[in-house]
Amino acid sequence: MSVGQTSFRDSVERMYTHAAGFMNLSPGLEEKIRVCNSTYTVRFGVRLRGQIQTFTGYRSVHSEHMEPVKGGIRYSLDVTQDEVEALAALMTFKCALVEVPFGGSKGGLCIDPRAWEEHELEMITRRFTYELSRRNLISPSQNVPAPDMGTGEREMAWMADAYKRLHPDDINARGCVTGKPLSFGGIAGRVEATGRGVQYAIHEFFRHPDAMKTAGMEGQLAGKRVIVQGLGNVGYHAAKFLSTEDDARIIAVAERDGAVMNTAGLDIDKLRAHIAETGGVHGFPDAEYSQNSLGALELECDILIPAAVEGVINTGNADKINTRLIVEAANGPVTAEADEVLKKRGVVIIPDMYANAGGVTVSYFEWVKNLTHIRFGRMQRREQEARHLMLVNELERLSADRGLGWTLSDNFKDRYLKGASELELVRSGLDDTMRAAFQSMAEVWYTNERVDDLRTAAYIVSIDRISQSYRAMGL
Ligand code: GLU
Repeated sequence: MSVGQTSFRDSVERMYTHAAGFMNLSPGLEEKIRVCNSTYTVRFGVRLRGQIQTFTGYRSVHSEHMEPVKGGIRYSLDVTQDEVEALAALMTFKCALVEVPFGGSKGGLCIDPRAWEEHELEMITRRFTYELSRRNLISPSQNVPAPDMGTGEREMAWMADAYKRLHPDDINARGCVTGKPLSFGGIAGRVEATGRGVQYAIHEFFRHPDAMKTAGMEGQLAGKRVIVQGLGNVGYHAAKFLSTEDDARIIAVAERDGAVMNTAGLDIDKLRAHIAETGGVHGFPDAEYSQNSLGALELECDILIPAAVEGVINTGNADKINTRLIVEAANGPVTAEADEVLKKRGVVIIPDMYANAGGVTVSYFEWVKNLTHIRFGRMQRREQEARHLMLVNELERLSADRGLGWTLSDNFKDRYLKGASELELVRSGLDDTMRAAFQSMAEVWYTNERVDDLRTAAYIVSIDRISQSYRAMGL
């Protein structure tokens, strides 16, 4: 999507250049990290509904300082080369910020997925996989796609299966994509991961009094007014967890066909069911409806979460945004110009490369699981169980020695000795990752007087790590 005067890619480059300006990079290296290494465009035909239909797809590789390169595949009619290149760049910085050892990539197919039947989408996806595979743009060791807008577990399963048929001898074939169904090499918690990461990002923000103060925010997350734009996979999970687990109030949700509002808070599961049933938010009971979807972004709230596409907050509405905190669950929802306006107005932005990094973080866990050919956490669990058993025995021995008469209930022993499930391990690994990344970003923000926003701080942390890889590589 072209956003105002600046394209999405220009917007990302502007933000990058701004941050790089605070660093001591050699000019050559500054350029090397900024530019996109390559973008492959493919046009392929599939015989459907009695005629050959031609589709255009892209896979862009932004940086190969680490391999495989990683990033989702988007199915949308708005996909352009400019867009996938911007998204691939963001993947590079995102991976570096959360320290998952991948370079950045992104793909897209110009298609309206709702216009095709399931079996047709399967044929198209398998053919696209074949085209990508011919160029090594899908491979467990070189390029690992994942879901993005318009794709999910189903498409990843088709891609994994198509790849496996093309490479029957590749023992690591399952690691060629992430975001697969659990029954087909996936990992527990991947579907919720990006929304879960948004929740953990907000939790960490609330643990930082200085950050809270800059946003003019006080108190607990419970009761805070939240607006979410886009109730897709990311927006839905974020809204659901924030409302049901943290007692935040989701006072408005903006979707394709309009927005629904209720100051007492919307029931997110009911709303999602309504969208699934009717195709939109219109007619949702117990809520006010407005046809002006983007108008909902201008309502007063404490936390605004754009969770759909890029460029929705731009020079056209930046001065009307009425919030203290924007959490970029989507990639690139705020343009470079709007970012400047919001900064001047004192609005704090938790940037995309951090806020939505939960997806790729759990993708990393899935890829590791696929490559080790062992259930995630199985080794750790055995070790944990052994340690717990030792502790329980020690407690009972001490109690007996000293005549304390302590007894541990069977129920307690059972729970304590069982160890964590894959889902618990994934969630705690994600939480750790989100805490550590926020801290590295916040440290730059707090300590470098010239850095006055979290986005610039996030870029600085990422660029620094990437430049270290390039230097180590000998470039
Ligand atoms: N598409 C997601 C993103 O933009 C996930 C990418 C991945 O898991 O590789 O971060």
